[in-house]
Amino acid sequence: MSTATFSTLRTQFAGLPIADLARQFGTPTYLYDAKVIAEKVADLAAFDVVRYAQKACSNLAILDRVRRAGALVDAVSAGEIRRALAAGYQPEEIVYTADIFDAAALELAVEHKLHVNCGSPEMIDQLGDVRPGADVTLRVNPGFGHGHSQKTNTGGPQSKHGIWHDQVDDCLRRADQYGITVTGLHMHIGSGTDLEHLAQVCEAMERIAQVVGRTLTTISAGGGLPVPYRSTETYVNIEDYFRLWDATRNRLAESFGHALRLEIEPGRYLAAEAGCLVAEVRAVKKMGDNLFFLVDAGFNDLARPVMYGAYHPIAIAPRDGATDRPEVDAVVGGPLCESGDIFTQKEGGYVDSRRLPIARVGDYLLLENAGAYGFVMASNYNSKTRPAEVLIEDGEAKLIRRRETFEDLIRGEIIPE
Ligand SMILES: *Cc1c(COP(=O)(O)O)cnc(C)c1O
Repeated sequence: MSTATFSTLRTQFAGLPIADLARQFGTPTYLYDAKVIAEKVADLAAFDVVRYAQKACSNLAILDRVRRAGALVDAVSAGEIRRALAAGYQPEEIVYTADIFDAAALELAVEHKLHVNCGSPEMIDQLGDVRPGADVTLRVNPGFGHGHSQKTNTGGPQSKHGIWHDQVDDCLRRADQYGITVTGLHMHIGSGTDLEHLAQVCEAMERIAQVVGRTLTTISAGGGLPVPYRSTETYVNIEDYFRLWDATRNRLAESFGHALRLEIEPGRYLAAEAGCLVAEVRAVKKMGDNLFFLVDAGFNDLARPVMYGAYHPIAIAPRDGATDRPEVDAVVGGPLCESGDIFTQKEGGYVDSRRLPIARVGDYLLLENAGAYGFVMASNYNSKTRPAEVLIEDGEAKLIRRRETFEDLIRGEIIPE
């Protein structure tokens, strides 16, 4: 099993000098390495379909590169459907996966005849009313779940996601009323979980697939593949994971007498390690015994630490290119008027410190493994403009989203007479 390695002092990202990138595009900026995305898609080539859960990182340029790497796409909202189409996906390459239809999503799903993955029984009726005879997938909650945090656990009785496992029969009857055929079965128990928990899904899938029966042509393992965020963590063994699912699929194929397509639906796995957030160090100050590095990026730019107590590898990129700096314990925080605006915190909001090279004002700081659930969760809190996004490809840095401006910030606001 290979472990991840992170260095706390870095001068380059994707082969380019970090200080140059920061000067060229300003800070804070998300940087993505196109090569990593392509490699991650290729890692999963054993699966018949790699379906990118674009909510992890949905910039059009990223979707385009994921598409060119051969992955299909998942959309969880009307906006994501339109993003997929705008990035060049054909309607038959898009699956709409959600627990409800809002009006806009239902309209698009009907207009483009999208395949729908139903996460609530009502979606079957609502689709059946306007598109009788459609094929659908059922997203089933197997009765258990697991995630890197309670907030990313998407199975079990406390989760709002999916159709409860003992209601599959009822859903089949609903589908019958509209001539709808259940051709797919899908389970996604959580994000950033572990292989032990993911493996339990295979058993549940097999059992529930037998309830649905021979109309099934596709099973989806969902997402949830973890990536290492610390040097002590290891990569999951994709081969072992595939083998478990392949065996499940083969037993079902034998039982049904026809082939079944095996899908996987990663978000984090494809995007997390491809991206980092680069910020500039603006203050280095002591508060009692704590040393704070304050940077120009906050939880408005990267929300995972404050939302989940998530750990991101941090590196200092000295402005002067120095490759040797003494280390200190530092707390890393942002500019927001909110005491929780701390990148080095544990779940529950407890401030933690990190062993880092001593930073100086004007140095750059990298929050690594930030490609997934990074920019997409950025907000305008404190009237901060959202950061720029830059894709690095073949040694060339290309702007893929310009930094927001004040005009972007107030667009749509109205002062009544
Ligand atoms: C979020 C999500 C995924 C991706 O989860 P990751 O942990 O990022 O792989 C896949 N499928 C569905 C339905 C999701 O909601």
